[in-house]
Amino acid sequence: MNKIPVITSAEQSDQAAKKVNLLGMSKDELSAFFVSLGEKPFRATQVMKWIYQFGVTDFFEMTNISKKLQHKLHEVACVVPPTVKYKEFSQDGTRKWVFEVAGGSLVETVLIPADDGKQFGRKTLCISSQVGCALDCSFCSTGKQGFERDLTPSEIIGQLWVANQSYMENVPPTERENRVTNVVMMGMGEPLLNYNPVVAAMSLMLDDHAFGLSKRRVTLSTSGVVPKMYDLAKDIDVALAISLHAPNDELRNELVPINKKYPLKDLIKAAKSYVYDENPRHKKHITIEYVMLAGVNDSDEHAHQLVDLLKDLPSKINLIPFNPFPHAPYGRSSNNRIHAFSHILNQAGFVCTIRQTRGDDIDAACGQLVGQVADRTRRAKKWQESIQKRQSHHE
Ligand code: SF4
Repeated sequence: MNKIPVITSAEQSDQAAKKVNLLGMSKDELSAFFVSLGEKPFRATQVMKWIYQFGVTDFFEMTNISKKLQHKLHEVACVVPPTVKYKEFSQDGTRKWVFEVAGGSLVETVLIPADDGKQFGRKTLCISSQVGCALDCSFCSTGKQGFERDLTPSEIIGQLWVANQSYMENVPPTERENRVTNVVMMGMGEPLLNYNPVVAAMSLMLDDHAFGLSKRRVTLSTSGVVPKMYDLAKDIDVALAISLHAPNDELRNELVPINKKYPLKDLIKAAKSYVYDENPRHKKHITIEYVMLAGVNDSDEHAHQLVDLLKDLPSKINLIPFNPFPHAPYGRSSNNRIHAFSHILNQAGFVCTIRQTRGDDIDAACGQLVGQVADRTRRAKKWQESIQKRQSHHE
C-alpha cells in the first residue's frame, strides 16, 4: 500500500467561491459564459479540451487563446476540482481518492484496472454521486452512514478529472492523455436521486470536446428509482446497471428498501423499456448486480427465481462476493456456493460473471466506500444504537 497524504487546500475552495468555476459546466453554459465576456462561443470547446483532455487548470498554459483572454479568464474564472484529502494506490493497481467536498464531508472514488497487466488496458473508475445515501440498503456500509447532500456537477466530473490527472504528472500538457477508459456511477449515493447533476456530468464524460468516452463505457447503476429510469432513457444514452440483489419482493424489501416503493414488477418493466423502447440501437442489455450474502440470497432456489425474473430481459449478471464491514449483519457466500449459483444462471443461458475482489488493502472494494458524512438523516446514530443493543443482548 502506498498512502500519500495531501494537504487540504482551503485556498482552492476560496478561489472557487470567488471566481466562476468552469469545471462541470456544459458546453452550452460555457459558450454562454464566453459570450458574456464578449468572446465568441467557440472558445468554449477550446477551453474544454484544455481542461478535460490535457488536465490544464492554468489559463496561461492554454496556448491557443489570446494573452488578453488568458488574463481576463485569470481574473474572473478558475478550474477547481474537489480537494483531495488523501489518496492511496494499491499494489494491484487499484487507486482510491478521498475528497473533501464543500461542507467538510468526505466522499470516495475508486479506480480499478483490468487484470491484464497492460499499462493502457481497461481502467474503470467508480464515481460517487451523493454524500452518503438516503436509501439504507441493509448490506451497504454507505447506507449506514446516512445522507448529507447531493454532489454538484463539478464535484462529480472532478472525480474523473483527478483520476486522469494522476497519470499526467510530469508529462507536458499536449502529450497528456486520459487513462480512465470506463466509468461506473456506482460509488456513494443513488445517482438517480441526484438526477440533473449526474446527467450533466455524464454528458461531459461523453462529449468529444471533454472526455469523449463511448456511451457503452459509461454506466449508471441504480437501486431502482423507476420513474427516473424512464427519464434517463430519454435524456442520455448510457449503459444501465441495476443493483438487484434479490429475486423476489419479500427478500428485496428487506435488502433494498426502495423496493417497497418500486417493486420488482415495475422495476423489470422499466428495465425492459430502457432496452427496447428508447434508442434500442445502443442499449442492448442491462447489467444486473447481485451481492452474494451467505444463507440470505444465494440458494439454488434463489438462482432459479432469478432466471425466471430475468427471462425476458436481455441482461448480464454480475455476482459480487460480499465485503463485510464492521458489525455487518451478513457474511460472504462461499466460493463453492457462488460458483453453484453462477452455474444455474449459465445453464439458463445468461452471461454471468463473478466480480474479483480488488483493492482490499486500501478498503476500496465494493460496499466499503466509507466516507465521513455529516448525517442529516441521523441514520448513523440509529445504526450505532442498534449495534449496541445487539451487543448488550448477547452479553
Ligand atoms: S447500495 Fe447504493 S443505493 Fe443502497 S444504500 Fe448503498 S449506496 Fe445507497
